[in-house]
Amino acid sequence: MCGIIGVVALSNRHINVCKILAKGINRLDYRGYDSWGLALYKNGEIQSHLRRVGECKLDVDYDYGLHQTGIGHTRWATNGEVSERNAHPHLCGDFCIAHNGIIENIDWFDSVETYGRDMTDTEILAKWMRKAELSNEYVSVPEAAYIDIKGSNSLLIKTSEGLHVLCKGKELYIGKT
Ligand code: GLU
Repeated sequence: MCGIIGVVALSNRHINVCKILAKGINRLDYRGYDSWGLALYKNGEIQSHLRRVGECKLDVDYDYGLHQTGIGHTRWATNGEVSERNAHPHLCGDFCIAHNGIIENIDWFDSVETYGRDMTDTEILAKWMRKAELSNEYVSVPEAAYIDIKGSNSLLIKTSEGLHVLCKGKELYIGKT
């Protein structure tokens, strides 16, 4: 199973988020190393969305600039082939998702038949979230997803409201530095 890491700078400070993500992805790559990716945010806007096949080669000493929020991922494919398109984070509208686990009832969210067998459960969920947001059916789309997801899963979901941390049947650590 893969590794996920999220960073939120306190008090809206600008910090070297990418460096922290790079260190985190490197340390988590024993959990999955077929592909990796990250997303960086500043002033509520996405600044970078990078996904690559293979081992993460980010230089932890490089100056990547200052950001406020970021999520990173190193993947062990469970649904869908190893490819840049299937690497995380998945971006759909305002939703940016890094996921660890297998969503056992993904057909409840949308049939894989709709999107094809090669689409990951994570990407289907991202598309469902976008659709749910547009429908105005839920007060909180991440919370609705959390209630309905079956299986052991951890998710980091960046939305315009902030970074949501969803953890069901898995361990996820929150720390402050
Ligand atoms: N099911 C997701 C995928 O295949 C996450 C995989 C994992 O946790 O390793 O992309």
